[in-house]
Amino acid sequence: MLLACCCIVCLEPGPAICATCAGKFRAASPFPQLPGFDSCSALVDYTGAARDAIVRLKYRNARRVLALFGCALAELIAASPSTRSTRSTRSHTPHADVVTWAPTSKQRRRDRGFDQAELLARAVARHLGLPCRSLLARTNGPHQTGLTLAERLDGPSFRARGQVRGSVLLVDDVITTGATMIAAAGALRAAGASAVHGVAAAHTPLITAPAAPVEPPLTMCESPSSVLKVSPASSEKEK
Ligand SMILES: [Zn+2]
Repeated sequence: MLLACCCIVCLEPGPAICATCAGKFRAASPFPQLPGFDSCSALVDYTGAARDAIVRLKYRNARRVLALFGCALAELIAASPSTRSTRSTRSHTPHADVVTWAPTSKQRRRDRGFDQAELLARAVARHLGLPCRSLLARTNGPHQTGLTLAERLDGPSFRARGQVRGSVLLVDDVITTGATMIAAAGALRAAGASAVHGVAAAHTPLITAPAAPVEPPLTMCESPSSVLKVSPASSEKEK
């Protein structure tokens, strides 16, 4: 398996995402608060090497990337004032009781053999030490890929599988229009969630917004020996 031993972006032998490719990732540009969320954030902009990595995760089953993104998202959540525990600034326990995801369609799950949002949510939950539960079911709607922006804004719809208690951390791989996340958050709130925090591996930059400094730098860790850093969005150095 070629992808089992190589960087999934450049295919050079080494970790799942090599330091050179990770150095090309850009921290997610600021985006407007999504309705229904107490907070929502993304790790990287869905462009360039980061886009290549996520596309290969989704379409080539490159699951090795999950460990990287799961760990990096957990770090992002732990560093966020809105989700960080107030008991200790060093705590990695967020203000969430449970982690869940916005499920992909049944057909897509069947085609790929997995739901990348679920795998990502489980990786994040594992790093945070939180339970991960399937709280949502997709009720209808076409695949988002290949649709126009207007069609995407309609988005899929979801229903909760039962009553939801406490604060929920909703995980997705990519936020494009936000329609999927908004619909999922609405279903969680309608079912009783007291708070909904969202986090995604990547966000498609749709608007031109001033780049904000990212403090501290985001990290992606696969193992103690291969800690990768994501450059701040404001950085211009590419090579
Ligand atoms: Zn690479």
